[in-house]
Amino acid sequence: MAETIKPKAGIMDIALYVSGESHVDGHTEVLKLSANENPYGCSDKAKAAFLRTAQTLNRYPGTDHRALRAAIGEVHGLDPDRLICGVGSDEVLQFIVQAYAGEGDEIITTQHGFSMYPILAKMVGATPVTVGEDERVIDVDAILAAVTTRTRVVFLANPANPTGTMVERGEMERLAAGLPRSVLLVHDGAYAEFVENFDGGAALVDAYPNVIMTRTFSKIYGLGGLRVGWGYASREIIDVLTRLRQPFNLSEIQMATAEAAVRDRDFVERCRTENAKWREWLRNALVQMGVGCDASHANFVLARFENPQEAEACNAALRADGIIVRPVKSYGLPQALRITVGDESACRRVIHVIATFKGIR
Ligand code: PMP
Repeated sequence: MAETIKPKAGIMDIALYVSGESHVDGHTEVLKLSANENPYGCSDKAKAAFLRTAQTLNRYPGTDHRALRAAIGEVHGLDPDRLICGVGSDEVLQFIVQAYAGEGDEIITTQHGFSMYPILAKMVGATPVTVGEDERVIDVDAILAAVTTRTRVVFLANPANPTGTMVERGEMERLAAGLPRSVLLVHDGAYAEFVENFDGGAALVDAYPNVIMTRTFSKIYGLGGLRVGWGYASREIIDVLTRLRQPFNLSEIQMATAEAAVRDRDFVERCRTENAKWREWLRNALVQMGVGCDASHANFVLARFENPQEAEACNAALRADGIIVRPVKSYGLPQALRITVGDESACRRVIHVIATFKGIR
């Protein structure tokens, strides 16, 4: 019998990332509220930059991301030399595990944390250590108690996905201060822009040399399809991560579009305001129908049902109407559905279907 090529040990233990579907059988016009995408699209200025850059597709892109880093630095008041850009923030997270963890090392994530964290840990042969958490608050003491001499990285999204909760600054400080200096704390700020007057973790990075902040253009900027994210850390850490980056990881189209997007603060502000307004509307409507829903700091809400069966049945009712939301069973929350905050008509449509499901109208 012919020999087959076998992957390295551990590769087949890596779970495949489950991404939200974008179609429902029998529906041509689905309402997709499963991937925390921006219902208002993206900035017109970003679109114009995208089209403009298409003229130079024959050219290789620049390798140092200079203009994009300068724009991000200007807008956020950060040193551009302490920034790194990647293919989505996912790629920056990947550089982090590649650089700082390997076989035999441990990477701490929380029970309801973003599903990519354990996948990334396993990609480099490290062991994901999952710390239990209350659904509503991250337990800093539990994270600190889980640290061993093998711990290399701690992943924490703030605001968190899929719970929408936030760890307050004092608690983040306590976590950063309590970790050994040899452990890197990743402050994942994918949803930071939805929080008013929030630096996304930048001050924490400045105060602790072992903290890195990651951010994305996929959420408030409405550029999930563009695939651009970035990280902010000490010069030393950025130097390390840059060595793992492919020189041409971002195209000129990606960079120019992201640059125009980050400079369009009016668009970001409008999206933040609309999101906050409809997020509260959605939450109130759910609570009034007897569906559990805590305050969210992001662009989604977590609707908590009586039990997993009710969550499943409600999901089926939404799907029958062509609405895709995110069941979060794989995040350890089988009784909940994560619903992206859409625009007004999307929110009203979701609530109409859930109300009918609940027999309220
Ligand atoms: N972190 C968190 C918490 C997320 O929810 C996501 C997107 N689902 C990401 C990182 C990655 O986003 P991207 O790669 O699109 O920047």
